[in-house]
Amino acid sequence: MSFRATILTLYPEMFPGHLAYSLAGKALERGQWSLEPVQIRDFAEDRHRTVDDTPAGGGAGMVLKPDILAKAIDHVSEGDDRPRLLMSPRGRPLTQERVRKIAASEGVIIVCGRFEGVDQRVIDARNLEEVSIGDYVLSGGEPAALTLLDAIVRILPGVMGNALSGTHESFENGLLEHPQYTRPQVFEGREIPAVLTSGNHAAIEKWRLEEAWKLTTERRPDLVAGKAK
Ligand code: SAH
Repeated sequence: MSFRATILTLYPEMFPGHLAYSLAGKALERGQWSLEPVQIRDFAEDRHRTVDDTPAGGGAGMVLKPDILAKAIDHVSEGDDRPRLLMSPRGRPLTQERVRKIAASEGVIIVCGRFEGVDQRVIDARNLEEVSIGDYVLSGGEPAALTLLDAIVRILPGVMGNALSGTHESFENGLLEHPQYTRPQVFEGREIPAVLTSGNHAAIEKWRLEEAWKLTTERRPDLVAGKAK
């Protein structure tokens, strides 16, 4: 069974978005993963197909109604034990480790919020795991869901051309990646570091690890804290 993503959204036409392109797009065409966007509005019952209402207690904006969203969630998760995620700036920040875990499972159900967000009771009642893609506020969960899916799909088995190309990457070993170079040998007077063209694989590995440590210590001391060199 290939990885299956179901997205609950008010804007299903935003999917697959950029995931229709490049390696993710080819993998989608080949059926290495699948995507099912579901329109939350289809579960509204009134004539106007209302999905939101004003916040209890007052204040700006609108809140997604719990009853409609719960119906949509129940519809897609019947007999299904895929994790149910809610994209949310209040969620646990996404990490490569979490991405790896999700990618190793059979798939996900992702709820995209809009407006001021989602009624707390549906988050609790349907056990939604809130996931954030960073400390900033988007206008909707769709680009966050596409970002999460992008990170998942690229590490699914067989999606990346070169199976090894994921192993040295940023975060895979808790470090940022070493600098990369390619031809020409000299660019505007700047040379490729000599060790990389030396053919000495042990020396190259050592250089890459040192550079990764240097970069990570400078830019992301939080990643290095508690890690033995
Ligand atoms: N009022 C909310 C923000 C709502 S933003 C608050 O202050 O917490 C509208 C929707 O965009 C959210 O429901 C969520 O689905 C999505 N969203 C916004 N920022 C996000 C982020 N950093 N990560 C993931 N989803 C986000």
